[in-house]
Amino acid sequence: MSVPASVPEDTQPEPVVAAGPALTRLALARGEVDRSSHLRTDTSWLQNAWANPGTRVVVAEQGQALCEITDDHARLVFVSPADAPDGVRFLLGVDDQGVAYFGVAGPLPATALPGVRPAYLREAGPLLPDRDAGLMTHAVALANWHETFTHCPRCGSVTDPFASGHGRRCPVDASEHFPRVDPAMIVLVTDTADRCLLARNAMWPQRRVSILAGFVEAGESAEQAVAREVWEETGIIVGAVSYLGSQPWPMPQSLMLGFRALATGSTEIKVDADEIAEANWYSRAELASAIAGGVLRLPPPVSIAHRIIESWYGSQLPGSW
Ligand SMILES: [Zn+2]
Repeated sequence: MSVPASVPEDTQPEPVVAAGPALTRLALARGEVDRSSHLRTDTSWLQNAWANPGTRVVVAEQGQALCEITDDHARLVFVSPADAPDGVRFLLGVDDQGVAYFGVAGPLPATALPGVRPAYLREAGPLLPDRDAGLMTHAVALANWHETFTHCPRCGSVTDPFASGHGRRCPVDASEHFPRVDPAMIVLVTDTADRCLLARNAMWPQRRVSILAGFVEAGESAEQAVAREVWEETGIIVGAVSYLGSQPWPMPQSLMLGFRALATGSTEIKVDADEIAEANWYSRAELASAIAGGVLRLPPPVSIAHRIIESWYGSQLPGSW
C-alpha cells in the first residue's frame, strides 16, 4: 500500500506526553547484591554457605528488620547463621566479595546495641545504602509472603518452602506456589496547561494529597488500569500514557508501576466520593504556595509518588515530611 501524500485534516496526531527523565534510584529499587538464583537449589553450596561464619543473615518479621538508625543514615544489622532464629530461610544473594546473604522469617533478635532497633522500610528504606536497601526490601517481601501464605490453595495442606524460600510446594498434590506480587499503577495526570492533578483519599488525614493510584485488575494492562482508575476516581479522560519506572512496595506485597498521562477532554473533576474526598489541578507555583502555607502535604520521599511529583515539579519539592 502506498503512503498518502498528505494526512487528512480530521486525523489529528496522538498527543504526546513529555516523559521527562525515567525515574532512577528509587529508594526501594536499589540493591547491589547479585540474587544468585542459580544457587537456590544447590544443596551443598547452601549448606556450606550456612556453615560459614562470614555469612550474613537478615531477620525479618512483620515488615521490620533490625537497623542502626541515626538522623540521616541507617545500616542493616546482620546476625551470623549461628545466631539466627528458627524460621523459613531464604538465599538473598552473593556480593562481589563472595559474601553470602540469607534472610530468615522469624522473631527479631534481642539487642542492646545503642541506636539499633526494629524498623520498617518506610522509615529505613531511604536512609540505607544501596546494598542494604536491596537486601531489606527482598527479605521483607519474602518474609511477608511466608508469614501469610502457609497452606495450599488447592487442598489446604501445609506447604513446604523450596528454591531457598523463593517458592512453596504442596506435599500432597505437588503444586508449586510463588510469592504473590500485586501490580499497582500510580499516575501523574496533567492538563494541557501542564497543571498536575492531586487528590486526597477519603481515608487520609486532612491536607494529605497525592497522585492517583490503584491496583491493576485481572486481565487488564497497566495502561488500561491507568485510564480506568483516573476515570473512576475523577471523571477525567486520559490519552497518551507513558511509563516512568517501578518500585517494589512490599507493604505487604505491591509493585508500584509509575506513569504520566495527559488529560485529553474536559478538565472538570467529578470525584468518586467513596474513595476520593477531593481532587484539584495545581500549577507548580500553586503547589509550592500550598505546601509553604501548610495547606497541602505530599507523600514522603521513600514513595514513588513523591519522586513522580518531583519529576514533574522540576526540582526538589519544598516542605517536610
Ligand atoms: Zn495441595
